[in-house]
Amino acid sequence: MNMILKNVTLNQKHCDIKIEKCRFAQIAPQITPGIDDEIFDAGGKAILPAFYNLHTHAAMSLLKGVGDDKELFSWLSQDIWPREKKFDDDIVYAGTKLAMLEMAKSGTVFFSDMYFGQAAIMKAVAEIGLRAAVSIVGFDMFDPKQTAQKIDAIKEFLDLFNPAPDLIQKTLSIHSVYTVSAPLIEHIAKTARDNHMMLHIHASETKKEVKDCKKQHGCSPIAYLEKLGALCPRTILAHAVWLDDNDIDIILKNKVKLVTNPASNFKLNSGMFMFDKLQKSGCEIGLGTDGSASNNSLSMFDEMKLCALAAKIQANDPTAGKAEDVFATATQNGAKIMGIEAGTIEVGKLADCMLLNLENPMMFPDYNQISNLVYAADSSVVDTLICNGKIIMQNHVLPNEAEILAQAKIAVKKIN
Ligand SMILES: [Zn+2]
Repeated sequence: MNMILKNVTLNQKHCDIKIEKCRFAQIAPQITPGIDDEIFDAGGKAILPAFYNLHTHAAMSLLKGVGDDKELFSWLSQDIWPREKKFDDDIVYAGTKLAMLEMAKSGTVFFSDMYFGQAAIMKAVAEIGLRAAVSIVGFDMFDPKQTAQKIDAIKEFLDLFNPAPDLIQKTLSIHSVYTVSAPLIEHIAKTARDNHMMLHIHASETKKEVKDCKKQHGCSPIAYLEKLGALCPRTILAHAVWLDDNDIDIILKNKVKLVTNPASNFKLNSGMFMFDKLQKSGCEIGLGTDGSASNNSLSMFDEMKLCALAAKIQANDPTAGKAEDVFATATQNGAKIMGIEAGTIEVGKLADCMLLNLENPMMFPDYNQISNLVYAADSSVVDTLICNGKIIMQNHVLPNEAEILAQAKIAVKKIN
C-alpha cells in the first residue's frame, strides 16, 4: 500500500510526501491522495533521516550497568564473559528486542550487530521491523579446537538463512586481534571476500591492544589485519582510536570504513577518535553506540553530541566535528557504508525517516534543526519512526512495549 505523509516540515517548509513501494516517490507542496493511498497526518512535524547505528552488540542491553567504571580487560573477563556464558537463544532474543526498543525510540532504523545467537537475533529483528546487519562473530581465544568449531559454525551460517529475512543482511565479524587466531582471521577474511560480505572488526581500540600487537606480531593491528587479508572496501573497523599515519595510509589504500563509538571510548578511557584528521584525510566514517554494557545508552543523539564535542577537543579546534558533518555521519554515511539506498529525504531513496516534534522545547527555536538534533535534543523529540516505508513507532510508542520489557525481565533473572 502507498502512504502519503500529509503536512510534514522538510527543510523548514511544509509539504506532503508520498511513499510508494518502500521509497519516497513524490515530494510536493500538496499531493492529492489516490483511492488506495493511506494518509498519515504529520501535523507539521519535521521529517529527517533516521539513524544507522554501525556498531553495537544489541543483546548486551541486558548487561547495562554491570561492572561499570572498570578497565576494559578486567570488565570483560570478570563481569561480562561469565554472564554471557549463561546466554541462550531466548535470552539473546529478549536482549535484542530490548535494545531495538531503545534504538527505535531514539530514531534508529538500522543496527550492525556483533553477537552470537544469529537465529534469535534475526527473529527479533524481523518482529520489530527494523533493518540490521547480523554477523557471525569470529572468536577462538587462540584455541585450535574453538577455531575448528567456529569454521564449521560459519559454514552453517552461510548455508542457513538463505536468503536472509527482509531488511537483514548477513555479515561476518572478527572480534579483535587479541581474541582471534591468525588462521581464523584469514578464514573469515577469505569467506567475506568469496561471498562479498561486509566484515566487521574491533580494531585499535586501546593503546594496550596496539602495544601488544606490535610486541607479538611486529606491527600495528591495522597492518596485521592487512597482512592477513582482512582489509577491503567492505571492511568496517569499529573504534580505530589509536592509528598512526601508516595505519591511515593502509585504511585509505584499502578503502576500509571506520566507525567511531565515542561514549564507549570515553567510558572505558580508551582514547579519542581523530574525527577531524580522518575526515579530512578522506576516510569514510560512520557512527555507532557500541553495546549497552560499555555505553550505556543506545541513543544516537548522545553519540552525535559526544562525537562533535570529542572532535573539537581532539583537534583542539572548535570548527572540527561540525553538526552537519556529524549528523551525516550518523545518517547518510552509515547507510552508504552499509550499501542501503537511504539516509536522505529524497525521491527515489528508501523511506527511512523520523518525524520530530517541533513543539518540544529542545527543538525550539529552530534556526538550525540539525544543530538542535546534534547539540540540544534527546530521543524524546522523536514522535514517529518509519523504516522501509512502514510505521514502526507512533506517538513515541511501539506496539508490544510491555511484552518486550516483560521478556527482558525474565532474561535478566536467568543471567544473574
Ligand atoms: Zn564493540
